Amino acid sequence: MKTCLVVDDSKVIRKVARHILETLQFEVREACDGREALEACQAATPDVVLLDWNMPVMNGMDFLRALRESGMTQKPKVVFCTTENGMGHIRAAIEAGADEYVMKPFDRDTLESKLQIVGLV
Ligand SMILES: [Mg+2]
Repeated sequence: MKTCLVVDDSKVIRKVARHILETLQFEVREACDGREALEACQAATPDVVLLDWNMPVMNGMDFLRALRESGMTQKPKVVFCTTENGMGHIRAAIEAGADEYVMKPFDRDTLESKLQIVGLV
């Protein structure tokens, strides 16, 4: 089973994402900020990280930088989540190492197509 780490400070978004990902046959883990996500990745690298931008403690951008600098040999694919008014963040996220992005709110078809692009579905 493929694994996905859902990183978002919103419990509602994590729940929605988990539901969609489980219908796509992913095993889902959750983290509510970048620091928790980094610890989760170091404990067991997921196949893909679904990453929010705005979070307390450590935001999505700082997580990407920390992941890149972590020296982990096996790195997860990263699908970065943004909102329409966060469009300017996309280029910065891709440059920082994100593989794809998805606009919030996302539905099953959208998420599935993004996961196909990064080679996971
Ligand atoms: Mg957020």
